[in-house]
Order: sequence, then structure tokens, then C-alpha cells
Amino acid sequence: MTGIIVKSTGSWYVVREASGQLHRCRLRGKFKHKGLKVSNPLAVGDQVDFTVEEQTEGAGVIHHIEPRRNYIIRRSVHKTEHAHIVAANLDQGLLVVTLASPATSFGFIDRFLVTAEAYRIPVTLLFNKTDLYDEDLADYQDQILKMYARVGYPGLRCSAHTGEGVADIDALLDGKVSLLSGHSGVGKSTLINALVPDLDLKTAEISEYSDKGVHTTTFAEMLEVRPGTYLIDTPGIKELGLVDMKPGELAHYFPEMRALLNQCRYHNCQHLHEPGCAVREAVDKGRIALPRYDSYVSMQQAEDNRK
Ligand code: GDP
Ligand code: ZN
Repeated sequence: MTGIIVKSTGSWYVVREASGQLHRCRLRGKFKHKGLKVSNPLAVGDQVDFTVEEQTEGAGVIHHIEPRRNYIIRRSVHKTEHAHIVAANLDQGLLVVTLASPATSFGFIDRFLVTAEAYRIPVTLLFNKTDLYDEDLADYQDQILKMYARVGYPGLRCSAHTGEGVADIDALLDGKVSLLSGHSGVGKSTLINALVPDLDLKTAEISEYSDKGVHTTTFAEMLEVRPGTYLIDTPGIKELGLVDMKPGELAHYFPEMRALLNQCRYHNCQHLHEPGCAVREAVDKGRIALPRYDSYVSMQQAEDNRK
């Protein structure tokens, strides 16, 4: 049988068949992830082949994983040298942010965008809690929306409380697998409640399957909005991130910098203080937004400090 992993507890997986039928599965054998070292062989969104044998009391055994179209990772909490695959086979990422209580920092937004860029996952920003905005904040919001739209990240305004924008988000999700992420407190759970019909029923059903196994940390969960339309929630995952970045790689994940990189005087320019830097020049002339450049600088410094 074939199915998609909709939840993982590390040792158990909940797999959904195309019919919607859920199966509790274990993994047989060892699966090597090509490239970096990962702490989990399988992730939500993985397509697998499995069999249900009588002697395993209805539990399935996964024996094949389809190659991943893409995946997104974070640094593993426990084993620092390992990465943790958060989810695989994503069509898009949706990042819930807000400019009101508590305002999401540009640093947080840009770190998410860099990660998504590295894995070639398109992102839309969802600016939530617009019901709390006054006129000044609404103006500011428009500027921020434009700033991100210009570099390839569309955004929309929404309010999980008033329902503004929820239909637009639903249209964005249609027919896709979307990862929903966000800093805690931005209203991600409230939005999921507005987007996923019978949410309590669905999560209860899925946890009934996964909680039968030994309970460990749950990673991510794929919820069905309707057949063919899925939302991956990442409870407890604070931040996604890149692992093992090479020198000079970071600037490639800022689309507005990427086009300028071969115009810098030095081929190994870090775009910090070097003379003849095309990126700095673009910042000075206002062609690259300052908050974006600031994010680049702090990420580059964090990367240098790690080494
Ligand atoms: P999460 O941590 O991102 O899952 O955030 P929650 O969904 O738990 O929401 C955090 C708080 O923000 C709760 O008190 C919500 O009621 C509130 N909240 C969520 N969405 C909105 C919104 O659109 N407007 C306002 N005013 N509050 C919201
Ligand atoms: Zn430069």
C-alpha cells in the first residue's frame, strides 16, 4: 500500500492512504538520507510504501520511501551535529507574522525566508491581527508588504478574529501541501482553527493512532483542509534553519542580492565593509531595503561566530 506520513513521533508514524484511511506504522530497516546527517529518517509529507501484516496487530511496516521533491530542516535540538527534517514534499510555506502584539522581528522573518529560499520553497507572508492596527500601523504594513513583494515574497493581511483574509488564505492553500509556520503568539492556532474544518476531530483521530506508540516529542502534523489540500502545522518548532552553509552562500538566498553578486570588486566579497561592493552600493541607493540588509549582516555574523 502507499500513503503519506501525516504525523511522526520519532518511532511511530501515522500514514494516510489516498482513501483517507489512517495506519499506524513502523519503519523496517535503515534508511540513509543522502547528503547531510539527519536525526530522523522519515518526516511528515514523505510518501511511503507499507504493508500491514497480521502478526503486527494491524500496525503497518514501512519498507520504501519515495525520493523527496524537497524538504525543510532545522538544527536538531539533541544532537547538534545532526539536522532534523521538519517536513518533506512541500508546495509552499506560509509564514504567519504580525506587526502588533508581539511584533514579529524582521530577523525572524528573513531567517525563515532564507531557509525557504535555500530549499526553493515559495513563501507567502500572512500578516495577522490587522484588527489591532491603527492608521499609522496600517500604513507601515503597506510599506512592509511592498518591501517583501518586491523581492519575491507576496503577503496578505488577515485577522483570525474578524475573518479578514481567511478566504484568501484558503484560496492560496487550494490543491497544495503548505507548511504553516510562525513565532508563538502570532495567532497560528487561531488561523488553523478558521481554516481546517472539524479540526478537533481530525487531530484527535490522528493522535489516537500515534499515541498508541511510545510517546516522544511530536514533530509536525499534516492536516486535511479538504481532499487534495493539506496544511502542515509545526507545533513547538521555533525556527527553521540552515545547516552547513558555505562561505558566501548566504547572499545567494537574498533574491535582491543574488543578481548583484558578480558585480562586487572582490569575488569573495562578504558585502560588509569591502570597497567596491555592489550590494552596499545598492543599499546606499535604496535599491535594497535596509531591514533586509541588516538581517543579512546579522545572519552572516552569526554564521561566522559558529565557525
Ligand atoms: P499561536 O501561538 O501562534 O498559535 O497563537 P494563538 O492562535 O494561540 O493566538 C495567540 C493570541 O493571539 C490569542 O490570545 C489569540 O486570541 C490572539 N489572536 C489570534 N489571532 C488574532 C487576531 O487576528 N486578532 C487579535 N486581536 N488577536 C488574535
Ligand atoms: Zn559585495
